[in-house]
Amino acid sequence: MHIKELVLDDFKSFGRKTRIPFYEDFTVITGPNGSGKSNIIDGVLFALGLARTRGIRAEKLTDLIYNPGHEGDTDHGGQREASVEVVLNNGDGTLDRAQVVNAAGTDKVGDVEEISIRRRVKETDDNYYSYYYLNDRSVNLSDIRDLLAQAGVTPEGYNVVMQGDVTEIINMTAFQRREIIDEIAGVAEFDAKKEDAFAE
Ligand code: ATP
Ligand code: MG
Repeated sequence: MHIKELVLDDFKSFGRKTRIPFYEDFTVITGPNGSGKSNIIDGVLFALGLARTRGIRAEKLTDLIYNPGHEGDTDHGGQREASVEVVLNNGDGTLDRAQVVNAAGTDKVGDVEEISIRRRVKETDDNYYSYYYLNDRSVNLSDIRDLLAQAGVTPEGYNVVMQGDVTEIINMTAFQRREIIDEIAGVAEFDAKKEDAFAE
């Protein structure tokens, strides 16, 4: 499984609908400082709901919405919204149909060779809302989490290695480093379940 395409719409510096294709093996994104490279990674974290522990670079969710006056004054009424879609190529069947059906809560999930995960954040005058979609069906974050966990993608995992992570790992104690290995190897999940079971 790999990311096939990212579609950013009014997300951070992407004020126009922008499609970014990804290769199967390796994709490098280059560009001048401030051109939006890291915003692309933020888009992936945002859409896949991985942001909580891996630190998306925004104080609040609504800061992720494209703001034409980002560098200066901001003044715009009405509703604003941002959306990021991650299109996964699941041609190798990493996620089987049953897993996708289970996450979407319906058998009308369409194609599972290509899986679309989309998140929207919408700001109204006095509040904001966030929505997740799996193959265009409205789902909860937990559904996305459960699905991605089947492919070994978790918020605690190191699927996304952020700036500073490597230095942090070097400075960790041996025990902390062991916890990361447990997490990546999938042992941590069972440790957590064991703890829950004892607590009950
Ligand atoms: P570097 O090479 O320095 O790491 P980068 O390519 O990673 O740069 P980003 O951090 O992705 O750059 O992009 C930063 C730019 O995104 C800044 O110019 C900032 O003004 C803009 N930006 C961030 N949030 C928004 C927003 N909500 N609306 C419009 N522009 C935004
Ligand atoms: Mg950057």
